[in-house]
Amino acid sequence: MEFVDEIIETGGPILGSEHMETLRVCMQCGKCTGGCPSGRLTAIRTRKMILSALLNMRDEVLSSDELWLCTTCYTCYERCPRNVKVTDITRTIRNIAGREGYLAKSHRMAASYVIKTGHGVPINDAVKESRKKLGLSEIPPTTHAYKDALKGIQTLAKKTKFDELIDFDWETMNLKE
Ligand code: SF4
Ligand code: SF4
Repeated sequence: MEFVDEIIETGGPILGSEHMETLRVCMQCGKCTGGCPSGRLTAIRTRKMILSALLNMRDEVLSSDELWLCTTCYTCYERCPRNVKVTDITRTIRNIAGREGYLAKSHRMAASYVIKTGHGVPINDAVKESRKKLGLSEIPPTTHAYKDALKGIQTLAKKTKFDELIDFDWETMNLKE
């Protein structure tokens, strides 16, 4: 199967086939790369990644570090003159890469916080202080306040094998290795 078909087939059930089919109409204008805030500071080149996918360069795309440098800000998605759903295509490629063991350490780390705390970015003292200044309760009504809900998230992580996907160690409550 061509990589482009695999991407469309993988994202289709969640995002819709029509949405994913937009990948085929990229005209390589570069407006995605030109507006990418992450690309100003990192090696990510969105146009190149789309071209590599279209050229069936599956291994290169899945194993590239750049794939994980997208912040999913959706700027490219809004700028694309061909309505290529760039960000969602990137997320779908990441899903494929994750399944094949290419998940970036930084993303595995954020995922481990979801299992440990219910949040990819748990609350800290600075956020608590900001919440107080805004007249909000110091702790938000999430898993930070409702510990039983965290047990539900951990059960989901086990049942969906999300813990295995990120190599989570339940004894140390951290990533393995
Ligand atoms: S902006 Fe759209 S058409 Fe232009 S290179 Fe990026 S994805 Fe392709
Ligand atoms: S969604 Fe990702 S690739 Fe697109 S502009 Fe934002 S950081 Fe760049």
